[in-house]
Amino acid sequence: MSIFQRTTIALARSPLMGRTMRAMAARTSLARRFVGGADVDAAVQTALRLRDAHGIRASLFYLGEYVAEPVAIKHNVSQAIEACHALGAAGLDVHVSIDPTAIGFMASDALGTENARRIGAAASAAAGATASSAASSAASATTGAAASAAGWAADAAARATADSAAPRIGGAARNWVVLDMEDSGIRDRTCALHRDLLQAGLPAGLTLQARRRRTPEDLAWAIRQRTSLRLVKGAFPERALDHAGRARIDQAYLDAAGIMLSHEARESGFYPVFGTHDDRLAGAIMTLARERGWPPDAFEFEMLYGVRPDWQLALRGLGYNVRVYLPFGADWWPYAIRRVGENPRNAWLLARSLTSD
Ligand code: FAD
Repeated sequence: MSIFQRTTIALARSPLMGRTMRAMAARTSLARRFVGGADVDAAVQTALRLRDAHGIRASLFYLGEYVAEPVAIKHNVSQAIEACHALGAAGLDVHVSIDPTAIGFMASDALGTENARRIGAAASAAAGATASSAASSAASATTGAAASAAGWAADAAARATADSAAPRIGGAARNWVVLDMEDSGIRDRTCALHRDLLQAGLPAGLTLQARRRRTPEDLAWAIRQRTSLRLVKGAFPERALDHAGRARIDQAYLDAAGIMLSHEARESGFYPVFGTHDDRLAGAIMTLARERGWPPDAFEFEMLYGVRPDWQLALRGLGYNVRVYLPFGADWWPYAIRRVGENPRNAWLLARSLTSD
C-alpha cells in the first residue's frame, strides 16, 4: 500500500475530518463525484438519470459500516428498506447492496440475520409490485392500441423513432440484495447469511474477493444456486489469507471468472457480476464469455459510481450490461476519501473540496 493511500485511509478514519466534512452545508465536489445523493430520493433520481441517459443500472448502498449502536443499526436497515420501496416505485431494478456490519452483525448474528431477512423481504415485495405494474401498463397499452388502428400505426412510428435514439437497458430486470464482503472476521458469517437468505427464498447475492486464496471453494457452492455473485479484487488485504502481489491477484480473478462463466453455472441459472474497473480483465472476460456462448445480457460489469465513467459508457456502447454501485447518505467522507486513495489522480478533487467548494 502506498504512502498516499495510507494517508487517505488515516483521513477516512479521522472523526474530526468526518464531522467537519459532514457539517459543510453544500456537498463538495468530492462527494458529488462519488456519492449518488444525500438521501434515498436523490439517489433514485441519480439512478433514473443513469438509466435514461445511458442505459446503466444501479445498486443503491446506504453509507455506514461497522455500526454497533442499536439506533444506528435501525436507521441503516430502514434506509435499505426505503431504498427497495423507492426503486420499485420508480420502476428501476430493486437492487441494493448491504454491509453485514451495518445492519446488526456487530451486535449479534441473530439481529443481523433478522434485519437482512427484512431487507430481503422488502426487496422481494417491491420487485413483485414493479413486475405487476409493468404487466398492467403493457396490457392497457395493448387494449388502447387495439381500439384505434390508425392511432396504433402513428404510435408505432413514433416509438420506432424514439427507440432508435434511446439508450437500451439490456436483458430482464435484476432484483437482488447483494451482500458486500468485508474483512475476514466476518467472511464465514456473510457466507452463512447468504445461504440463510437463499433458503428463505429471498433474492440474495454475494460478493467474493479474488485476492483470498479460499475464494474458489466459496464459489463452487454459489455457482450451483440461482444466485448472483459479484467478483471483486478485494479491498481488505490480509497477507496470511491472500495471493501475493498484483499479478497473482489478477490471475486469481481471471481463474474465478472462468469458473463463473462455466457451462455448469449457466445451466444453474447463476448470474455472474464482474465488479472491476480493470479494462484488461474486462477484455479477457468478454473474450471468455463469447467463446463459451454467454450472451452479453446474461452477466454484467459493475463499477463504483464516479469511477472510470468513460469506461462504463464504453462497455455499455459495446452492448454489455453495466451497473454502478451507487452510495447515498450523509456519512460520505470515509467512503469518498477511500476512492481518492485508490487513484492519486483523484487528489485534485480532495484539494478542491478542502479549498474552493
Ligand atoms: P484496480 O487494478 O484497482 O483498478 C483498475 C483501473 O481502475 C486502474 O486503472 C485504476 O487506476 C482505476 N481505478 C480504480 N479505482 C479508481 C478510483 N477510485 N478512481 C479512479 N480510477 C480508479 N471490495 C471488497 O473487499 N468488498 C466488497 O464487497 C466490494 N464491493 C465492490 C463492489 C463493486 C461494484 C466494485 C467495483 C468494487 C467493490 N470492491 C469491494 C472494491 C474492490 O475490491 C477493489 O478494491 C476496487 O474495485 C479496485 O479494484 P479494480 O478491480 O477496479 O482494479
